[in-house]
This record gives sequence, C-alpha cells and structure tokens, in this order.
Amino acid sequence: MTNTTTDRMTDRIYDVVIIGGGVAGAALLYALATFTDLKRVALVEKYSQVASVNSKATNNSQTIHCGDIETNYSLEKALKVRRSAQMLVRYAEQLSPAQRDQIIYRFPKMVLGVGAQECEFLRQRYETFKPHFAGMQLLDKVEIAAVEPSVVKVNGQDRPEELVALAVLDEYTAINYGTLAQSFIEQAQTSDKTVDLKLGYPVQTIEPVGENYRVTTAAETMLARFVVVSAGGHSLLFAHRMGIGLEYSCLPIAGNFYFTPQVLNGKVYTVQNDKLPFAAIHGDPDITMPNKTRFGPTALPLPLLERHNLQTLIDYLEVLKLDQTVTGVLWDLFKVRDIRNYIFKNIAFEMPVVNRRLFLNDARKIVPSLQLEDLEFAQGVGGVRPQLIDRTQRKLILGQAEIDPGNGIRFNITPSPGATTCLGNAEQDILRIQQHLGCKFDRTWFEAESIAVS
Ligand SMILES: Cc1cc2nc3c(=O)[nH]c(=O)nc-3n(C[C@H](O)[C@H](O)[C@H](O)COP(=O)(O)OP(=O)(O)OC[C@H]3O[C@@H](n4cnc5c(N)ncnc54)[C@H](O)[C@@H]3O)c2cc1C
Repeated sequence: MTNTTTDRMTDRIYDVVIIGGGVAGAALLYALATFTDLKRVALVEKYSQVASVNSKATNNSQTIHCGDIETNYSLEKALKVRRSAQMLVRYAEQLSPAQRDQIIYRFPKMVLGVGAQECEFLRQRYETFKPHFAGMQLLDKVEIAAVEPSVVKVNGQDRPEELVALAVLDEYTAINYGTLAQSFIEQAQTSDKTVDLKLGYPVQTIEPVGENYRVTTAAETMLARFVVVSAGGHSLLFAHRMGIGLEYSCLPIAGNFYFTPQVLNGKVYTVQNDKLPFAAIHGDPDITMPNKTRFGPTALPLPLLERHNLQTLIDYLEVLKLDQTVTGVLWDLFKVRDIRNYIFKNIAFEMPVVNRRLFLNDARKIVPSLQLEDLEFAQGVGGVRPQLIDRTQRKLILGQAEIDPGNGIRFNITPSPGATTCLGNAEQDILRIQQHLGCKFDRTWFEAESIAVS
C-alpha cells in the first residue's frame, strides 16, 4: 500500500527544514551545515532570491549593533548583542578580502548628546561602558568636528548647544545583510552534506506527522525531523495556524528613510528618549548609495507583515487577533504622552507637504545646516519590524522573540537587532535541535575568544 501522503515519492526526510531565507534562516543553514553532523538540511524561501524582505540591504539600517552607541541598550543587553556582532565580523574575516569587502564596512560611529542633560547622560554612560568597550572614546565639540564637521558647523561657525559624543572610530560598523545571507548560503553549499535551497516556494502548511513535520509548498511536500520557521512576522502566522503562540499578537512598525547628499562620514546616532519603545533616527552612510547619507528610520505602526506587500494586510489581520487585551496594551502605550506624540509625528512623516518639514526638524539635531531641498524620501526603501505583544503579560516586547513548544518546531520573530544576532540565534536554535535530535554540535567557533569588532 502506498496511498498515504508520507509515502509519496515526493516526500523527502530532512533533519532540519528552515522556512524563510532572510539573514536569520541563511545563518542557520550555514551553521547547521558547518558545525553539526546532521546530513540533510533544506531552506525554503517564497521569493526567487534570499534576503528579499527585511534583510535586503536597502530595507534596514545596515548597522552592526553592539549596544555602545545605542542608548536604548542596557550594558547587559549590549554585551549580549556584541557577542553576536563579533561573530558576524569573525565570519566575514574568514572569507577572502574581496568577499569580506562586499559584506562588512568600516565607518566611524558615534552617539551624539545635544544640550546639558544629554551630555551628562553620555558622560555617565561612558564611565559604565568604557571598561567593556575598549575602542570607545568620549569626544568634545572640537573632536566631534574633526570626525563629523557637519554635525558641529553651521556656516563655518560652531552650533551653540553643548555637544558630547561617545564614539568608536575604527571598527567594522556597517554591513550588507543581503550579501551576508547570500554568502551564508554559498558557504553552506560547499559542505559535503545535502543542503537543498528551494527558492520561489511559498510554504503553505506545516503539519505534525508522527514525530516529524510535513512542510507543504505548491510544488512539493517535505518531511522534516525538526522545523525552524524564520519567516519574520509570518513566523507568528504559521505558529497561530498550528495553535501555537496564541498568547502573542503583533504590532508591525514600519521604518522609512530619507536621503540627503553626503553630509556625514560615518554613523551618527542620537540619545534615545527612554519613554519611547523605538530608536531615535540616525544618520548613516548608505553602502548601496555612495555619496548619499540616509536618515531614519521612522517608526510608523502599519498593518502589514511585509512593507512593500499589500497582500500581507490579510495575514496581519489574522495574527493581530484583536481582543480586549490587545486593545488594552495598545491603549496603555497610547496613554503615554511621549509615545502618543511620537506616533502622531510618525504618521505626519507620511503626509505630503508636512512630512519633509517635520522630518527636517529631527534630522537637524544631527546636521543643523540641512535644508528642506536636501531631503529626498527614500522610495521603496525600508522594512517592517514585527514587534510582538504578549497578551499574558499585557505588554509590547521590544526585542526579538522565539516560540518554542519543545516538540521539534521553533518559530523565530526577529525585529531589530535580529540581523546582528543571526549567528547568535542560529547557535541557540542548534542547541534546541541538538536536544531534540541528539546530533553533534561543535560550538568552538561560537565560543571563540571575543575580539573587538575590528
Ligand atoms: C527599518 C529597519 C531597520 C533595521 N535596521 C537594522 C540594523 O541596522 N541592524 C540589525 O541588526 N537589524 C536591523 N533591523 C532588523 C533586521 O532587518 C531584521 O532583524 C532581520 O532582517 C530579520 O531577518 P529574518 O531573516 O528573520 O527576516 P526577513 O529578512 O524578513 O526574512 C524572512 C523571510 O521569510 C520569507 N517567508 C515569509 N513567508 C514565507 C513562506 N510562507 N514560505 C517561505 N518563505 C517565507 C520571506 O520571504 C523572507 O525572505 C531593521 C529592521 C527594519 C525594519
């Protein structure tokens, strides 16, 4: 008898099937192929290219986050994220220089304090962070001007406010997460294992079949001993459809950018308002657009799971599961004056006529001499951060999250800094896979002596 679906010729049993070919899924494919003894792994991606959504170079801020200039990170969080950031640099440095230079980039970076209060805050932060971040410097106005003249000078004169910056001047700070994802796939495919890449295959369903899972696309059915879903906001949709993670809803926050002519030499962040759940805008060199500076991202609540895909509105309504609790969490956020004003401002950033003027106000905190005509909305650039709402704790989760029912399937939802932490997350995924499948995992590479991101 060969009449069951699992017996069909098209069925193939993989040790691990990864759903989603962003930088997170690609990092896991690489790590499984390189550091475990598993023999058969596959990655299924709905688009014809990897890294077409949030991991595409144009759709994120291209930052290797270390927590040193991100003032919304505590020291504890910064040290954790930096460990993953160091893995990215370690990975890229083991490639040929030509390949490495397509992935990681050296630019100076700093976080700028403007006015007495922010300057004092940064001086204190310097004392706390300096022992852990050897390359960190505290810069005064003259020193800032030497690195970033446009931050200090207006018509040849110094701007009047007190300025201080925490800076790191000679490390890898920018990255193309798209070429990184592509490189992970290429490296995984050099292994002697079965590493199947299935591009252009939207996964339709995931179903448990005995101890395995059946992953179905329009073209084929695969069986997997373990499934990792790294499909951005769609990870939550898959989980919900399997009756898992129903305690979570989602608040997608879109991020848009503006281009200006090149006014900065490196990355300039600003001090975070600690009442706001999202990072303040920053100015960055765009590694895909030489001679431009990119300002942003904005933070606009948007009912889409993918920024440039209107069809994902329906998917979003399915994961939202709007009820009293979710409404309560949203209302609690809205009640805070700073958050409410921030939401209104970000909505206004989308309105013709006022949008550029309003954005200019924020961008001038970084480069005071910017003019309206310098700003150009970055069309088609930007992504969506799928922030989870925890119904049980009645709160918005600010970082990434994983849903792991402990039975051979795992769902990763990775807003920022999920690209920086892709290898660190892959390590955590493999530890769970190891527990479940009993495979070997050589962790030496992940635990290598910490190096500066230099
Ligand atoms: C504006 C903005 C700025 C950011 N800046 C930074 C930054 O500077 N540094 C940083 O570390 N992080 C940053 N992030 C976050 C970062 O972009 C994400 O954490 C990271 O890209 C997530 O990678 P991923 O692979 O999980 O998701 P994605 O890159 O979104 O990939 C998910 C993949 O799943 C696929 N998929 C979805 N549904 C299916 C299906 N049914 N079948 C098959 N495949 C499917 C999608 O096509 C997609 O390729 C930023 C995000 C935004 C929005």
